[in-house]
Amino acid sequence: MIYERVALLGLGLIASSMGHAMKAAGLAGEITGYARSAATRDAAREVGFCDHVFDTAAEAVAGADLVVLAVPVGAMGELAAAIAPHLKPGATVTDVGSVKAAVIEAVGPHIPEGVHFIPGHPLAGTEHSGPRSGFATLFTNRWCLLIDDHADPEPMAHLRALWEGMGANVDVMDAAHHDVVLAVVSHTPHLIAYTMVGVAEHVRRVSDSEIIKYSASGFRDFTRIAASDPTMWRDIFLTNKEAVLDILGRFSEELFALQRAIRTEDGEHLHEYFTRTRAIRRSIIDAGQDTSAPDFGRAVAK
Ligand code: NAP
Repeated sequence: MIYERVALLGLGLIASSMGHAMKAAGLAGEITGYARSAATRDAAREVGFCDHVFDTAAEAVAGADLVVLAVPVGAMGELAAAIAPHLKPGATVTDVGSVKAAVIEAVGPHIPEGVHFIPGHPLAGTEHSGPRSGFATLFTNRWCLLIDDHADPEPMAHLRALWEGMGANVDVMDAAHHDVVLAVVSHTPHLIAYTMVGVAEHVRRVSDSEIIKYSASGFRDFTRIAASDPTMWRDIFLTNKEAVLDILGRFSEELFALQRAIRTEDGEHLHEYFTRTRAIRRSIIDAGQDTSAPDFGRAVAK
């Protein structure tokens, strides 16, 4: 056991997966939970990944050694303000938000003296949300990034041990770097997927039924990504604005170059470009970071 009492605030995909994973590995003595809607609280009680689900965040955090903020990024500040007077001295507060600088700015000022704040972000998810969508192995072999904002070594070591106990690999970095890395590997690709699905909707020469009937893996993968929770993704783009706009600018330049290569029939340019991108795909599979790849098992076993 790493923490005697853990409070999960927000009971969606990430919190429910943490609850299942902590129970499976015996990492917490007791898990409490809170969500804003009665329907989510009732579903969480039914699924059973918390020992007690409370109607207020204040009750859920009372006596907790670890408090996990697992709501959309835009809601973190208000939640932190609500729990601040009820936090146990010496407790650790962490979060799982997909953007880090904005969360630190919103949450940091509310954390009382004597409570440790260590922001975090598990790089794991699905397009599903809510308390029924979680599962114990969501974090297995995935990365969890922790932000070292002058954290004390002992609380940092405990939080690292918790994530490792849930199957994740842990890296520590600063918030600004995290936000640029995520803009490249997650946020901008999601925006492109949302856009492509929107484009398909507007191509009137292709009927809706044809899009569904013939959607091959390219478009189908975009639709899966574009089905992710709208609130969560709205908040991500609004709070990681600068990094996303920077990467989007670079994306547009590359797209124009490929557009020109197609128009001028520059096959050599296209072939050389696709050869380079194929090598990147290979290195992701070799690193064991694509569970859908046919040779995933072999890559992980390395
Ligand atoms: P989720 O399944 O949609 O659950 C969100 C939870 O937050 C629900 O309990 C919801 O309560 C609550 N909530 C929503 N808006 C709220 C508000 N304005 N105030 C208070 N509570 C609110 O979300 P999730 O996928 O677990 O994501 C949670 C956090 O993890 C987000 O910050 C997200 O950026 C981050 N994250 C997500 C993924 C992913 O792929 N899903 C991956 C890594 C990190 P009700 O149900 O009562 O409305």
